[in-house]
Amino acid sequence: MTDRHVVIIGAGITGLSAGLQLRRWAEQAGVALRLSIIESDERVGGKIRTYREQGLVVEAGPDSMLARKPAGPALVRALGIESEIVPMPPSRGGVHVLYQGRLVPMPMPTMLGIPADWRALRTPLLSTGGMLRTLADLVLPRVWKGEDMSLGRFLRRRLGDELVTRLAEPMMAGIYAGRADDLSLLSTFPQLAEMEKRYGSLLRGAMRSRRQQPASPGNTGRSAFITLRGGLQTLVERLVEALQPWAAIHLNTRALEISQTPGGRYRVTVTSLGQRNTLVADGVIVTVPAYAAAPLLRKLTPAATRLETIAYVSTATVAIAYPASMAPPIEGSGFLVPRDEPSFITACTILSRKWPHTAPEDVWLVRCFVGRAGQQDALRLPDPDLIRGVREQLEGLFGLRGRPLFTRLTRWLRAMPQYGVGHREFVAQMEQTLRDAAPGVTIAGAGYHGIGIPDCIEQGQRAADTIWKHLNLPLPADASSADGTA
Ligand SMILES: Cc1cc2nc3c(=O)[nH]c(=O)nc-3n(C[C@H](O)[C@H](O)[C@H](O)COP(=O)(O)OP(=O)(O)OC[C@H]3O[C@@H](n4cnc5c(N)ncnc54)[C@H](O)[C@@H]3O)c2cc1C
Repeated sequence: MTDRHVVIIGAGITGLSAGLQLRRWAEQAGVALRLSIIESDERVGGKIRTYREQGLVVEAGPDSMLARKPAGPALVRALGIESEIVPMPPSRGGVHVLYQGRLVPMPMPTMLGIPADWRALRTPLLSTGGMLRTLADLVLPRVWKGEDMSLGRFLRRRLGDELVTRLAEPMMAGIYAGRADDLSLLSTFPQLAEMEKRYGSLLRGAMRSRRQQPASPGNTGRSAFITLRGGLQTLVERLVEALQPWAAIHLNTRALEISQTPGGRYRVTVTSLGQRNTLVADGVIVTVPAYAAAPLLRKLTPAATRLETIAYVSTATVAIAYPASMAPPIEGSGFLVPRDEPSFITACTILSRKWPHTAPEDVWLVRCFVGRAGQQDALRLPDPDLIRGVREQLEGLFGLRGRPLFTRLTRWLRAMPQYGVGHREFVAQMEQTLRDAAPGVTIAGAGYHGIGIPDCIEQGQRAADTIWKHLNLPLPADASSADGTA
């Protein structure tokens, strides 16, 4: 029998993690397997991209990952780059919130913006009425009845509009560049529904959880987030090293469609430099955004076009470095912007403070986000105007003067999936439909079961698992599925 051939479409973290899992198992099980990875861009990594210039380590996309989700740290260990891990230093003044044109410290402690101590209710961000409304959470009946609902509706009914708009939404929906009222509770923060069920109140739940928190989430020290010294792109580079030359990675190659052969295999049509080609595979893992997966899968099942209904939002990041001598005297690692606050910037991280290894001591490095759900106008500006908008707001807020040492704009077009109400069921349905129509084809990635890097790693590994089983290949004796430790 000829070698089995698997094609992975998309070389972001999901696709590369799937590839590594397949390679490991093939080696351990002594199975002949060929792997082709198809990537439309000129580089691998997808949303993970690090610029290393002028002594700076600037993330264009993600800047860290949650330490408590094991798939991230496990992959780092498996790639032998554990020594590269940088845990986030203990909070230095926390985060600020832009409120009525001023930077106000986010009250501490909070859990996702929900006060986790009575002290956190006393903040200029809440009026007396707003604070009393938040306290009503202690006595209100349950809001979550077991069905999915919008995150915003759930939070507003428990905690009131003020707290949600000024604290909770910027923290939670900010991760998705989304709007709390449009996001699914169960696909974004299901732990809040569980918390309400268990404690009858989010305030009580946040306070209790804080007291019960384990000392060392993810075995990486006390830090909730980790990154890599040379930037998250190191992860991608190591994955590529671990995959090549065993896997063939085809850059500048776009997958166009997948169809089934009469023999139950799959034909993947690709185009590169104007030339069409066909790859025949026994299994296909599709890790591109949902709107890009839809046309690829249409021939296998017309229902796949419904994947286009998963909305994606565009955003941009602007990194700017100034001499540290100009650094403003504010404490903290950056600021969040509530949606009702007039602002060009939607969030800002002072990278040189949050991650001191990213800049030399004499440099103050910040990164700002522009554009989120419902606030996309600024993204229509040409590059120089977009950068100017960010600079002018930073100068106004921090009193900065003079020319920056470095600026870098990265546009992320249709980059952030918005998990709407019912997302979980929808995805489960789509996966089932695809399984029925084409059991050797599977979908994975940020559009489906979590947008965080560890979620994507896990999805890639699970997809590899699915395809491995479809190919009826023997699992190595010590294989543990979907956790990268096989
Ligand atoms: C600005 C920003 C900040 C973020 N911050 C964080 C953070 O701090 N922490 C965190 O955990 N997560 C963060 N995320 C989310 C996280 O980075 C992404 O969800 C994750 O990297 C997505 O990985 P993926 O492999 O699923 O998709 P992608 O990275 O999008 O990879 C998909 C790949 O498919 C390719 N492709 C598309 N169509 C085709 C086609 N037809 N043929 C071939 N190839 C195709 C694309 O070019 C791309 O390389 C952030 C995201 C962004 C945009």
